[in-house]
Amino acid sequence: MNRKELAKVLRKNGYKATPQRLAIFEIILSSIEHPTAEQIYNEISKKFPSISLSTVYQVLHLLQDIGQITELKFGNQSSRFETNKTPHVNLICPICGKIEDYHSDNVVKFWSKLKNEFDFEPISQRIDVYRNCDLCKA
Ligand SMILES: [Zn+2]
Ligand SMILES: [Zn+2]
Repeated sequence: MNRKELAKVLRKNGYKATPQRLAIFEIILSSIEHPTAEQIYNEISKKFPSISLSTVYQVLHLLQDIGQITELKFGNQSSRFETNKTPHVNLICPICGKIEDYHSDNVVKFWSKLKNEFDFEPISQRIDVYRNCDLCKA
């Protein structure tokens, strides 16, 4: 999924492909950090200084509604957002909150095997593994 494809998906769902919507998607897409709404807001403000945090939230909800981003909720901590929808492991550092994606064919195989065992169609999946990151370990 890139900018052009997202523009198509937005229009197909009856939404305008505004530069702000595309830019917010691109920030999440290009980030390896699973950014929070506040981080996305800080980043997009550099390009669109007049944008408000509530507009950012609206766009995040819209992108979720059309299935292009995933919100990772963490209780009363800030949600994190990602565009990666393939089965993967989120490696989470409980100290600094850093989240890295871990990809493995084994995860994909595990997920498709599991899906075959289910008697229903899963809506989504999420695998979180907690470990202290290299910086926090040091
Ligand atoms: Zn850490
Ligand atoms: Zn992830």
